[in-house]
Amino acid sequence: MAWYTDHQRELPWRQTKDPYAIWLSEIILQQTRVAQGLPYYERLLAAFPAVRDLAEAPEASLLRLWQGLGYYSRARNLQKAAQLVMRDFSGSFPRTYDDIITLPGVGPYTAAAIASFAFDEAKAVVDGNVFRVLSRVFGVETDIASSAARGVFTELAQSLIPPQNPAGFNQAIMEFGALQCTPAPDCSICPLRVSCAAFKEKRVNELPIKSKKTKVKEIEMNYLIIEQNSQILVRERVGNGIWKGLWEFYLIEGSLDWLAFPRKVLKSPPVHLLSHRKIKCEAWHVQVPDNFALAIPEGYVWMSPSEFESKGKPVLLLNLITDNLDCPILQDISPMYL
Ligand code: SF4
Repeated sequence: MAWYTDHQRELPWRQTKDPYAIWLSEIILQQTRVAQGLPYYERLLAAFPAVRDLAEAPEASLLRLWQGLGYYSRARNLQKAAQLVMRDFSGSFPRTYDDIITLPGVGPYTAAAIASFAFDEAKAVVDGNVFRVLSRVFGVETDIASSAARGVFTELAQSLIPPQNPAGFNQAIMEFGALQCTPAPDCSICPLRVSCAAFKEKRVNELPIKSKKTKVKEIEMNYLIIEQNSQILVRERVGNGIWKGLWEFYLIEGSLDWLAFPRKVLKSPPVHLLSHRKIKCEAWHVQVPDNFALAIPEGYVWMSPSEFESKGKPVLLLNLITDNLDCPILQDISPMYL
């Protein structure tokens, strides 16, 4: 905690005790780095300054502001949780870990973070940084990918948390993992090296133990940017996928190697990695003569580029668009936040 006093980064969500703002920051940071998440935090808080504003916002405007952050279920759960706070907690954010964890999208880590940062409840936070710090300092060999890990590390962290300053302890241990005890740390300047088990036993690179990840599935996606009468053929994704509610061009999934008609090939975005998927994407610009009667595939609509610009889109599509701004129809859909 003394180290934290000297080394902490000044971040806006650390200057507040407002549980709503802290919650927003924690949800953003669940799968996003601080530098990337910061402008989103500020924009979202400016657009929805209180939980009621978020609860009552049109989903499309929330997704639009979330655009580029990925993992859109987080945004949808944010809104669901805000509506629940309005309905079940009379609009005031729940004040205890046990209540906070009932909100959609809030797991043990996020609930502990909000309960301790906003309300000084002595609940230890355990995230990837905390796993790493504790595993090294105490020489814990539990596989952090195992189902037992959370319980083991939570119990250890809980035994260390000082009741008079749980927020300070939680902030400190996470920041220590983020800045000092990093995956490849500089132990020579570390204040804990005299007591650190991993350092003493020369096992810093071995800990924490993490078993191999599940196999990544490869997906091929082919976008046809079909243009006619200065409009493009697009659709909103439905179903329960991670891109639900986001908009895209005409999509053909799977290999298109068999296709042999002349076409204009656009620059492909780099291979896109999601948690368990690796997406290889190709795109073509298809200009259809104005008077040609094209059968519109189910689920698709014609839309002007400026209207499409205002829709939420997956980051893969944003990359595709910004990489191909020499294509006139795409110039009008250039995204705001890049
Ligand atoms: S000595 Fe190295 S491994 Fe141990 S806590 Fe410090 S930075 Fe981490």
